[in-house]
Amino acid sequence: MKILLNGYKGRMGQAILAAAQTAGAEVAAKCDVGETFTPEALSACDVAIDFSFHEVTPALAEACAEAGTPLVIGTTGHTAEERSLIETAAKKIPIVWAGNYSVGVNVLNWLVGKAAKLLDSSFEIEVVEMHHRHKKDAPSGTAEKLLAVVEAARGLDKSAERHGRSGLVGERSRDEIGVHALRGGSVVGDHTVIFAGEGERVELTHKAESRAIFANGAVHAANWVLGKPPAVYGMDAVLGLEN
Ligand code: NAD
Repeated sequence: MKILLNGYKGRMGQAILAAAQTAGAEVAAKCDVGETFTPEALSACDVAIDFSFHEVTPALAEACAEAGTPLVIGTTGHTAEERSLIETAAKKIPIVWAGNYSVGVNVLNWLVGKAAKLLDSSFEIEVVEMHHRHKKDAPSGTAEKLLAVVEAARGLDKSAERHGRSGLVGERSRDEIGVHALRGGSVVGDHTVIFAGEGERVELTHKAESRAIFANGAVHAANWVLGKPPAVYGMDAVLGLEN
């Protein structure tokens, strides 16, 4: 498998270079800020992997759609407009798009969905995430996905989210979902979903210790997406996690 890697100088880009080597894949073209790749280079690759900056992904997705090259998107923090441009590209090519490529986090998503249904609304939900000091977006893409999972399970939408309470916010309402983004040090990525009931509490936590888990998952997704019909796929599809 020949990969075009966008954002190769970054923390994740470096992890992808290592993961590709371990998997026996070739990074045949790579690009970072101030560099360009030709349409021919993109066409010559089986798949593109993007771990760069959210503003960059739509143009890469468009170039992939023109070249007919599948895309794996690891970058997070896209605006609604950027998301819509990426979805347009997915009408022509298969795109795997996940806020977190680790197997453990995707199983966490599945478990959280089950818990949110099995524990009734008297169990109030809070989502807490922590990342290293360099992270630019908040909450993390993984936390956003966890929020989407609990909102779907509880019949809520984003208006239920209460981000970083401060001041005289009043008592907690039953259906609100607290969201807290902690930043500091070198933390690769911690996510906890708390279900707080009367007299008991369930906490589901995932702690990432190394970026290799995301890189290995993304390279696995790149291999999986080859030959798939045009659409946006999540890691649940890649890993075969049933609903
Ligand atoms: P980073 O800042 O270390 O690396 C980003 C790289 O992208 C840098 O080398 C930067 O120069 C490059 N870049 C910026 N603009 C560019 C452009 N116009 N063209 C090409 N390259 C460009 O960040 P990171 O920690 O590697 O994370 C990158 C992205 O991946 C972030 O959005 C982060 O949230 C996300 N991420 C996703 C997962 C996942 O599993 N989906 C895991 C970790 C990080």
